[in-house]
Amino acid sequence: MAPKYKAPRGTQDVLPEVSWRWQRVEAAFRDICRRYGYREIRTPILEDTELFVRGVGDGTELVSKQMYTFPDRSGRSLTLRAEGTAPVVRSVLEHNLAAQGQLQKLYYIAPIFRYERPQAGRYRQHTQLGVEAIGAPGPDIDAEIIALFQDFLDAIGLEGAVAHLSSIGCPECRPTFQQALRKFFEPVIAEMCDFCQARYETNPLRILDCKAPRDVELREGAPSALDHLCDDCRQHFDGVKAALDALSVAYEVDPTIVRGLDYYTRTAFEVVHPSLGAKDVIMGGGRYDGLAEMLGGPPTTGIGFGSGLERLLLVLEQAGGTGSQPVRKPLDVYVAAASLEARQPAFLLAGELRRTSVSAEVDYTKRSLKAQMKEAARLGARLVALLGEDELKAEAVTVRDMESGEQLSIPRTEAVQYLAARSAANAEVQE
Ligand SMILES: [Zn+2]
Ligand SMILES: [Zn+2]
Repeated sequence: MAPKYKAPRGTQDVLPEVSWRWQRVEAAFRDICRRYGYREIRTPILEDTELFVRGVGDGTELVSKQMYTFPDRSGRSLTLRAEGTAPVVRSVLEHNLAAQGQLQKLYYIAPIFRYERPQAGRYRQHTQLGVEAIGAPGPDIDAEIIALFQDFLDAIGLEGAVAHLSSIGCPECRPTFQQALRKFFEPVIAEMCDFCQARYETNPLRILDCKAPRDVELREGAPSALDHLCDDCRQHFDGVKAALDALSVAYEVDPTIVRGLDYYTRTAFEVVHPSLGAKDVIMGGGRYDGLAEMLGGPPTTGIGFGSGLERLLLVLEQAGGTGSQPVRKPLDVYVAAASLEARQPAFLLAGELRRTSVSAEVDYTKRSLKAQMKEAARLGARLVALLGEDELKAEAVTVRDMESGEQLSIPRTEAVQYLAARSAANAEVQE
């Protein structure tokens, strides 16, 4: 019979056979964050819809087409976490964490929900690894978080990734750049898509974000933000490059990186890996000095990145894997019951063993002793503690070494201590 229910389209179960890969990558990320002084923040999986409309930008594809938005039972509009930064900035503002210019270095590992066409490494629920440094104007911190990601890739053994770096300027210098863009697009804007035409006057930077193939062709040779930076932005950009050089982090200057929303400023970067082909971005980030104000807070600088864990795992696998599966520690003790009366005492002995940190297993399905011994072997138990009619009468436990076959009787009162000592000795030999 085919199962009636499946995980929703675009989502996946992470089964025990592969969850160790996730744990390994997550542990490496947590460790690198710890070294760089980033502390974990956990925000709700739900936010007010308005947070994303303001914090991501009205008129973006994400807000208009991809959010999981619904009214709750009181009619409030809520949205499943649609991106990582806005909730973190919301939380920092709500709890006044960045008051008096205090720098907040935060990281998160959290699911993100987007209604997109499912494809390899892209899910409607995906997991994002992210950091946000809030309250640091840069440029050192900009370079540092790129270095952090590079160290993380080194820690998980992924080679061949390249950081692409640009600056998109600030509200000071952006008008000149926008003017240059309008001038460039003026002769062709009539041939471009409705989206681009609508943004020609208000925000021509967004034209650089358009994915329509014809428009991608038409913007060949468009002016670069890097040629229109004001002195402060130029200095900031030079500072980021100098710090990256000092940290020996390789990067390519890439003026095609764009962030079309007003609150993005200066540093923008992506890390790409060739194994994913054209859609090769494994991390994207940048500075968002205008976001806190956009969300109703005081002016607060910020920079961060996000990296999709599923895509990282896909790239890792293509590039040689997450290493070998950790060897599962063998079971210390299987407690077998030879009679119906011994089942309860066996259950209790297993419980006592577990409380002394010994791993213990017991039969739950009233199997025969023979079947229990088979199960003990299947689980790789080092010792079997046998309880039957004779043992109960003698207030003893028969302990069998599964490797040597050697068997001896231990008083029940000493059994836990004895089994714990034997298990500890076994673990030592194994290591
Ligand atoms: Zn500027
Ligand atoms: Zn377009």
